[in-house]
Amino acid sequence: MDSATTLAVARRQGFDTYALSFDYGQRHRFELKAARRVAAALGAVRHLVLRIDLRAFGGSALTDDIDVPRNRALDTSEIPVTYVPARNTIFLSFALGWAEVLGSSDLFIGVNALDYSGYPDCRPEYIQAFERLARLATRVGVEEGRELRIHTPLIQLTKAQIIRLGTDLGVDFSLTHTCYDPDRRGRACGLCDACRLRLRGFAECGLEDPLPYRREAAVRSQETEIRREGSGAGKRDSGNAGRDGRASYPSRLPSPDS
Ligand SMILES: [Zn+2]
Repeated sequence: MDSATTLAVARRQGFDTYALSFDYGQRHRFELKAARRVAAALGAVRHLVLRIDLRAFGGSALTDDIDVPRNRALDTSEIPVTYVPARNTIFLSFALGWAEVLGSSDLFIGVNALDYSGYPDCRPEYIQAFERLARLATRVGVEEGRELRIHTPLIQLTKAQIIRLGTDLGVDFSLTHTCYDPDRRGRACGLCDACRLRLRGFAECGLEDPLPYRREAAVRSQETEIRREGSGAGKRDSGNAGRDGRASYPSRLPSPDS
């Protein structure tokens, strides 16, 4: 969802887009399929899927035999086990290499520092540091003094704002995939952090998530419930959204067995 919206932003700003996805040993293939659909739908000039086996290291619920947490408290500062060690640094390094070959000075990444899971490599200071590194690390940066820029159009947006922005830019969210732990048919679980942040975003927008969920009825009723309870949503939408202005999110989420 975030990557799709970021791609749409880059296109709207007039960039020819070269999309890069990673087959890094994540738990499932559905997000790569979704990435192909999204890149095609949004007119990427090329879409590459690079293979890097981060399972060789493990150390994350996404790349190791560790369960994906369900119904975890969101909005804590704790870094969850779904954190993949140094993932964005690895991804951005590959993107930087490709950008230099393409002669591009502009990298886009859909990191988000508000409605995220507490990952350290999603923060603005991290991105700024990588931007400095990019200028020092490349031939075009050193010889030509080219100002490489890392664009993070979503970094200060809430999930709800990202969904609105994507919708305005014509992103078809039914093509996207968010869940860390889908079933064999690719249906989202509705319970992992990624699903819950996504569902909360749709609920705050008053929109229905077009994706199928494994526990359809439970997830839909939860969505309605959030909308009804949405007293915090107005606060978040007033332009002062942040961790403190967070809408309350019901703890009565469907249990893994429901
Ligand atoms: Zn999920």
